[in-house]
Amino acid sequence: MKYNFEQGIECANKMDEEDPLRSIIDRFYKVPGQIYMDGNSLGLCSKDAEKATLELLDVWKNEGINIWNVKDSKYFLYPSLLGGRMAKLINAESDEVTVTNSTTINIHQCIATLYKPTNKRYKILVDDLNFPTDRYAIDSQTRIHGYTVEEAVKVVPSPDGRMISEDAVIEAMTDDVAIALLPAVLYRSAQLLDMERITKAAKERGIIIGWDLCHSIGAVPHDFKRIDPDFAIWCTYKYLSAGPGSIAGLYMNKRHFGKQAGLAGWHGNKKSTQFQLKQSHEQESNADGFLTGTAPMLSMAAMEGVLDIYDDAGMERVREKSLKITAYLMYLIDQKLVKYGCEVGNPREDAVRGGHVALEHSEAYRICQDLKTRNVIPDFREPNVIRLAPTALYGTYEEVYHLVEILEDILLTKSYEQFSNTRALVV
Ligand SMILES: *Cc1c(COP(=O)(O)O)cnc(C)c1O
Repeated sequence: MKYNFEQGIECANKMDEEDPLRSIIDRFYKVPGQIYMDGNSLGLCSKDAEKATLELLDVWKNEGINIWNVKDSKYFLYPSLLGGRMAKLINAESDEVTVTNSTTINIHQCIATLYKPTNKRYKILVDDLNFPTDRYAIDSQTRIHGYTVEEAVKVVPSPDGRMISEDAVIEAMTDDVAIALLPAVLYRSAQLLDMERITKAAKERGIIIGWDLCHSIGAVPHDFKRIDPDFAIWCTYKYLSAGPGSIAGLYMNKRHFGKQAGLAGWHGNKKSTQFQLKQSHEQESNADGFLTGTAPMLSMAAMEGVLDIYDDAGMERVREKSLKITAYLMYLIDQKLVKYGCEVGNPREDAVRGGHVALEHSEAYRICQDLKTRNVIPDFREPNVIRLAPTALYGTYEEVYHLVEILEDILLTKSYEQFSNTRALVV
């Protein structure tokens, strides 16, 4: 989309005034004076999330073990209730989504359930830019089946360390590939893959395909009724802002309902017979069949609050603002920062980019240290990327304007030189 941005702050102020999500911003706790650009790593706390969490604490205080029964067993049914509401974000059927465990464990669950290697088809297809936990999980799943990683994990290499070639992914879908797991949006470069095209190619070749939505959920709407993948997983603490370590999402296409869960547990049992506590597992016939143990309820309540915000904001409006505010950031980078050796490392076109801007600079690490002392929260990714995520729900155009102003000062005065290049434990 073409926008008519201008360099002055008036342009930012006008866009803030006209922002259809303006009223949503006040529902979040923002530190006064701070420019928070890290909502793609950990979303900020909202009043809605806080309220839902406090409500749950109250129920615990007042009800004790009866928490399972109050409000028509709402909390016993919480995973399907929240999953059903979250399904709207990806246009899936409500019983195809549940919330449970962490992303990493959900990868294990989906692979353990759907990976049935044969002599001819035994490889798992991945790329080499995905977040490493996905790769660790895949590697270990092939080892469980007695393969070496070299034998059974097929890696599509990125041609440039930034992007994944969709053609190369499809070319790698040979007859020996059983399953593919790919990221919807790459965590470093923000590339958004053509999920529909890749999923279609996988299906034509008899390959089961799953998507990691960690960097797209809550920022990019998906149409799973159209894409029709086999499975998907995602965390909820990034754009979705459900809190540190909040529970993850799991989508299982209904054509796989009833397949025996690779990692079975008592909460995956049919609700109607769960408390009969039999020794034989009677699996629930929808996504809830892939639940395992007792849900960490306190980390789920915040999700309920956040989903109210998404209901009010609407995913389409979220995407619209996200594209506009990141386009504005890229525009200011082009106008003011490129001359200092900065480069935009993410794709430019709307159809192929997620919710953050990948600003590249050879001094990225030290620039991030400097930004933090100036009340800006960026996020650094090796080797040279400053990830900047002005989020749709609580970011403002004025913050983006000031961010670039601060970056310009840092680059002009080279003030980053006073910081050490030695990496901290958590960068
Ligand atoms: C953030 C992220 C994860 C995180 O996994 P956890 O199990 O929640 O720690 C996994 N995969 C991708 C692509 C991510 O961006």
